[in-house]
Amino acid sequence: KVLNPISPGNITQDLSENIILTTVDDLHNWARLSSLWPLLYGTACCFIEFAALIGSRFDFDRFGLVPRCSPRQADLLLVAGTVTMKMAPALVRLYEEMPSPKYVIAMGACTITGGMFSRDSTTTVRGVDKLIPVDVYIPGCPPRPEAIFDAVIKLRKKVSNETIQERATIMEQTHRYYSAPH
Ligand code: SF4
Repeated sequence: KVLNPISPGNITQDLSENIILTTVDDLHNWARLSSLWPLLYGTACCFIEFAALIGSRFDFDRFGLVPRCSPRQADLLLVAGTVTMKMAPALVRLYEEMPSPKYVIAMGACTITGGMFSRDSTTTVRGVDKLIPVDVYIPGCPPRPEAIFDAVIKLRKKVSNETIQERATIMEQTHRYYSAPH
């Protein structure tokens, strides 16, 4: 904006119209919530619903979500589908390779509780949160793409309400909890 000629009154007006005050936390959160890069961990039918988001109808990218193939480039892990005992170490390893701060969305009944396998199966993990911390759960079998949007909006709210220090403390506590023997 073009500044007014210098005078005390004009300077006050110019300052109020041209300066935005914020905190480092707000700036940091704004950047993070606008560019959450998900690592996609789809193992079963739920992931088909997620894949629909990538097309032009739902236009997932408008939230700044750009799917990544490397955990080192991702700060959001989206788990969609059944997690088997055999795959559990690989999932944990992928999560550990993601840089902090990082987030997890658990999508669908199978991911959240083991779903239809939770009763009799001896090879299914009965809830991904037994392996890694989950930030947002999306119930359903399968959840619709709109439910995934809702989860992303909830996660963005969570990101915007945390300070850098709070997130660091949460990451440290969850790391301690999940590395302890249970
Ligand atoms: Fe498939 Fe339903 Fe399990 Fe999703 S919750 S992986 S749709 S069986």
